[in-house]
Amino acid sequence: MSGPDSVRAMTDCLFCKIVSGDVPAEIVRESDRALAFRDINPQAPTHVLVIPREHHPNVGELAAADPGLLAEVLREANQVAVDEGVAGEGFRVVFNTGPRAGQTVFHVHAHVIGGRDLNWPPG
Ligand code: C5P
Repeated sequence: MSGPDSVRAMTDCLFCKIVSGDVPAEIVRESDRALAFRDINPQAPTHVLVIPREHHPNVGELAAADPGLLAEVLREANQVAVDEGVAGEGFRVVFNTGPRAGQTVFHVHAHVIGGRDLNWPPG
């Protein structure tokens, strides 16, 4: 995202404020273009969010704007699972997209969830 929309996003967006350090978070991994931090309201023993530093509202818009950055988010998500010790037993990477899917923060984020049995279909 660029132009006035990006300025507005950085001012209003909670996860942009985590990127800038204005809102605290328990960061577990950092790369040049992505950041991983523990979810403040964990739904499983491992629940980490991976975000691009740059503001994109959801996974579809990120995929269209910068597929390489989406690939980096996914690589980081996998590395989180490895670091957390859940890669072998199984984990889930979830992008809630849009209000009906439960997206509440409109800065794209991958939920990395593991450490317990995960039901299917999800709720
Ligand atoms: O997919 P959704 O948009 O609902 O996910 C947002 C997530 O951000 C929630 O799981 C919420 O607990 C988390 N969150 C956080 N730190 C904050 C605010 C929200 O980890 N300061």
